[in-house]
Amino acid sequence: MSDPATRLADIRARIEAAAKVAQRKAAEITLVAVSKTHAAEAIEPLILAGQTVFGENRVQEAAAKWPALREAHPGIALHLVGQLQSNKAEEAVALFDCMHSLDRPSLVAALARAMDKAGRQVPCFVQVNIGAEEQKGGCAIGDTPALLAEARAAGIPVAGLMCVPPLDTEPAPYFALLDKIAADNGLSGLSMGMSEDFETAIMLGATHVRVGSALFGPRA
Ligand SMILES: *Cc1c(COP(=O)(O)O)cnc(C)c1O
Repeated sequence: MSDPATRLADIRARIEAAAKVAQRKAAEITLVAVSKTHAAEAIEPLILAGQTVFGENRVQEAAAKWPALREAHPGIALHLVGQLQSNKAEEAVALFDCMHSLDRPSLVAALARAMDKAGRQVPCFVQVNIGAEEQKGGCAIGDTPALLAEARAAGIPVAGLMCVPPLDTEPAPYFALLDKIAADNGLSGLSMGMSEDFETAIMLGATHVRVGSALFGPRA
């Protein structure tokens, strides 16, 4: 595989091209570089190449890797893209600048408490189980308005909606559906699209794309 700076430039060019097709500005789209399972030595070259927003899916792993990296490289924003257990809410609020997996009332309560205690408001995307898959995280489509209302009532800044479409299916209908649910609920933030489908997601309105393997290479 090519070097990290070249891969980053390639992904940025593809974001730019997809935005252009959709008559959008690439600057409206945040590239979240998902660095889960990758060591600091793999992450640092991307930071040096100018990437500032990173994503991790586990609190423990992020807590082990990122404090030192952030001390060495100020100005990084760290996003949580994976499921969060309520008992890790305080740690997550201290560590992350944005969360993409708010998906149930108990987590709204835990995060609101943790944010109040820390005096730190962390924007959260509400994750929607867009394919109604039994094993998957995310709140049911029908429960989304109520969960959004709970989050707002609890004082959690709602960044928008997030989804992970079912594997091995055409993702576009799911992205379009998430966009519609967001619009119906007055939200403009859309966290959708990964290495295999971020261009489609951008054409359907993504404001945040979460790209891992296309930037870092395959995970072990
Ligand atoms: C791992 C992960 C990604 C990145 O996946 P790639 O296919 O490697 O780009 C995006 N979103 C979530 C929620 C993830 O867990």
